[in-house]
Order: sequence, then C-alpha cells, then structure tokens
Amino acid sequence: PNPERDRLLQAYEWTAKFYHYLLKNTEHGKAAMDYLRSRGFNDKIIDQFQIGYAPDRWNTIVQFLTNRSFDLQEMEKGGLLSKRSDGEDYIDRFRGRVMFPICDRNGKVIAFAGRVLGDGQPKYLNSPESKLFNKSRILYNLHQAKPSIRKLRQIVLFEGYGDVISAWEAGVQNGVATMGTSLTESHAAMMKTMAEEVVVCYDGDRAGQAAAMKAIPLLEGVGLRVKIAVINEGLDPDEFIRKYGGDRFQRQIIDGAVSTTKFKLIHLKKNHILLEEDGKIAYTKEVLPIIAGLPSSTEREVYLKELAAELELSFESLKQDCNEIRQSMLKNA
Ligand code: ATP
Ligand code: MN
Ligand code: MN
Ligand code: MN
Repeated sequence: PNPERDRLLQAYEWTAKFYHYLLKNTEHGKAAMDYLRSRGFNDKIIDQFQIGYAPDRWNTIVQFLTNRSFDLQEMEKGGLLSKRSDGEDYIDRFRGRVMFPICDRNGKVIAFAGRVLGDGQPKYLNSPESKLFNKSRILYNLHQAKPSIRKLRQIVLFEGYGDVISAWEAGVQNGVATMGTSLTESHAAMMKTMAEEVVVCYDGDRAGQAAAMKAIPLLEGVGLRVKIAVINEGLDPDEFIRKYGGDRFQRQIIDGAVSTTKFKLIHLKKNHILLEEDGKIAYTKEVLPIIAGLPSSTEREVYLKELAAELELSFESLKQDCNEIRQSMLKNA
C-alpha cells in the first residue's frame, strides 16, 4: 500500500474529469472548443481521449483540490500545481491550455500534456516526472491501443498526440506516441513484449525523418521488425489525414510503409545530386555498406538491382563493390 501514490492518482483522475467538464460545459472552455473543432476534433474523439481545458486562471485547480482536502504541497510535488516564484503560494501549473490526459497502461491518468491555443511557447507543457510519471516508460494511448496491438501484433509509433488521435479516428487504433522525448531503449523493450512489428510514422519534415533514422537501431536492437511510413510534403500524420483523408492514410502511408533499408536509401539520397558523377559516386559509397551489411543475398540483390536502375549503373559492378565491402566487413567482425 502506498497512500501518497493513491492520493495522487485520485487527484489526477478527478482533475482530468474536471478539465474535460470545463471544456465541454462552461464559458471558459468555449475558445478551446473552437480551437479543437478548427483542428477537426469532434465530440466523440474529445470524449474518447478525455480532452479537457485548463482555464487561464491562477487558482482553478488550487480551489478544486483544496475543496477536496488534498494537501497542496503534495499536489505540487505531484505536478498538478506550481509554486509562485515570489513566495509560498500555490498556483495552477496549467493555465489556458487544452489538456491531454496521459494514462498508464491500465488507463489511470498519471500526467497531462497541455497545448496552447494556437501559437505560443512552449507549444506543449508536460507534467514533470513524479511518483506516477516516468516519461521514458510511458507511451501515449497504450491503454486504448492494446487490443488492436495484440490482434495485429503491430504498433504504429507517432511523434505527437494529435497524430495518434487523428489516426485513431481514421481506423488506425494501434497507434502510440512518446512524450515529446526521443524513443528510449525501455520503450523499445516494452513494445517488443506486445508486438512483432513497429511502423515508425514520424512527421514528414527533416526533424521527423532524422528521428526515424535514430529509432531504427533501437527498435531493431530489441528484435522488432521495423517499417517506416514516409509522408511527403513535410506533413505530419495528423495534417496528412486532414488533407487527404483516413482511407488514403491507411492505404498509402501505413500499408505502404517501406523497409528500413529502403528508407535509408531514400533518406541518404536527399544529400546528393544524382545527376552529377560526383554525387552518384558519393551516394553509392554511402549506401553500399548498408546493402553489404544485409544478411540475405536475395535482399542484397533486390536493393542492388534497384540502385543500378536508378543510377544507370551496371548491376555487376555494384555487386562486385558490394561483395568487396562485405568481405572486409566479415573479416573485421
Ligand atoms: P500540433 O499538431 O499540436 O501542432 P505536433 O504534435 O505536430 O503538435 P510537433 O512540433 O511535431 O508537434 O512535435 C511533436 C511532439 O513533440 C509533440 O506532440 C509533443 O509531444 C512534443 N513537443 C513539441 N513541442 C514541445 C515543447 N515545446 N515542449 C514539450 N514537448 C513538445
Ligand atoms: Mn514534429
Ligand atoms: Mn507534428
Ligand atoms: Mn501536428
């Protein structure tokens, strides 16, 4: 038994319900509701994800918790309140933000992510780490995604909360996201206990694609099969779904996810001008070691053929270079 932990869980549960109520039923929540609607979130999805609103006031949650006899110092340590910088007074930690409850794998609220309405910094404010909340072990939406993950033996990994939510509405219900931090080994290990395959569906911008490159060795390192969903025009999954619809997201982006080798070839290509000899050679030098490291000769052949066609080089010469690289890799291993 851990009474302090239980009290904090109770406070989070009630606060989440309160924020949700304030969003849906009060004048305070109107602007936030308009904002959510402008992003395409409907009532059903707002309920499903228990989205809420923290009013732009100093003491809404201070009052709420005081009325329910919670110890404010304990609640500050637990991340629901802050201390005023000039004194002893407690104030609400989240003010004027759309609130996304973060749940543990059993569906208990253990933290919040709060988004500003529109532009403003920081865009997302998260709860601090606490007795309940350890960022590197939590995946957003895991509690709701579990049945679909178990059924498909597959997880779709997103960057943001909005991506998870829009994908859910589009029928992709095995989606989770990290808490605005990069993927950790403990995330990867957790995923491996539930699924065989992970589809990394990060934003189509540079940052997202670079993060996908980093996620690959972590996920493959725990023995997961990895595919990468590539979104063009720099869109994120949420934006893609708004623009092109859920069906196309499912078919083109999720079902069309590519192998990690293919993704690396696409990713590295962006650094080279393939119309120039120098560019062709530099690109080849970068990608041949990737292909040479593949354990299956069939796989190596597939990618070498693609490369040969794309660069208008002979398959034989690429294969010869590839074999030489492979020999020296095996020797040095
Ligand atoms: P939105 O669609 O609401 O504008 P996003 O999810 O597309 O947000 P990104 O800028 O792509 O936002 O960032 C991806 C994720 O990184 C966010 O969902 C959030 O978890 C995290 N993040 C972004 N900015 C911040 C920030 N200032 N502080 C903490 N986490 C952040
Ligand atoms: Mn991003
Ligand atoms: Mn994004
Ligand atoms: Mn977004």
